[in-house]
Amino acid sequence: MAKPKNETLLSIEKLEVVYHNVSTAVLGVSFEVRNHQIVALLGINGAGKTTTLRAISGFLGVDDAKVTEGLIQFRGEKIQNKPPHFITKKGIVLVPERDKVFENLTVEENLQVSVSLRKSRASGQDFKDLILHYFPVLGKVGNHLGGYLSGGERQMLALSTALVCGPRLLLVDELSLGLGPIIVDELMNLIKVIRDEQQVTVLLVEQNALAALEIADYGYVIENGRIVFAGDPDRLRNHEDIKEFYLGQGERESQKSYRDIKQYRRTRRWYG
Ligand code: ATP
Repeated sequence: MAKPKNETLLSIEKLEVVYHNVSTAVLGVSFEVRNHQIVALLGINGAGKTTTLRAISGFLGVDDAKVTEGLIQFRGEKIQNKPPHFITKKGIVLVPERDKVFENLTVEENLQVSVSLRKSRASGQDFKDLILHYFPVLGKVGNHLGGYLSGGERQMLALSTALVCGPRLLLVDELSLGLGPIIVDELMNLIKVIRDEQQVTVLLVEQNALAALEIADYGYVIENGRIVFAGDPDRLRNHEDIKEFYLGQGERESQKSYRDIKQYRRTRRWYG
């Protein structure tokens, strides 16, 4: 019997992650990502978003961190503390916040690295066609070095190399970081189109809550290593605290930057 489209693909239960055996960055985080959804994990700097993605993708070891409690299950299989190559083979592909592309390789060479890693009957030309379909601009900068690309082109190349890996679950860390609003909108829309056309599920980690909620089916807010709020985009957008702290729409005009928000939060507790 065919499985329902909205089966749980990724399930995180009471996840705890510790750096250097002493510093706990994620404390009992639980959430789930259903098949074919775009789920947003929102939060300010240092909230624990990247650590959570590293735990899912297996890239904790390089930072001397490990999952000390809880479960990460992908399609029902426990994957916590497994190495990145094991997790990538399962179909989970990370687009990291930093070091997205090989700066000393050209765009074409960056893509060739991913194509060569993928075991598939599809030809290099098939992958090229796929990439140019979504990111035609990359065709114009094929011989440019990764290090000389604009922020938007770099993000497109990072998404392309991830796509070539044939992900089932795409983990995208801070798609909007350092980019202007027009390119952010364009990239967010492309994520949605790719989700629809390639049947990919997406976990999107973002500080830019407004942009992420435009395309997300569901969102979680993480703060100090804990999930403090969850809901569909309308619910999140209309919640007074989220408007105030994450969308810059609160009554307190002076509380719009994340630094101000953090300062303000020391004097007020909120748990949706
Ligand atoms: P940002 O957007 O700034 O990356 P974030 O929400 O992704 O923020 P994390 O990077 O996951 O947050 O950081 C969560 C906590 O873990 C923070 O207190 C941070 O200082 C700590 N942390 C992150 N990386 C390391 C590391 N390599 N060693 C020790 N502590 C770390």
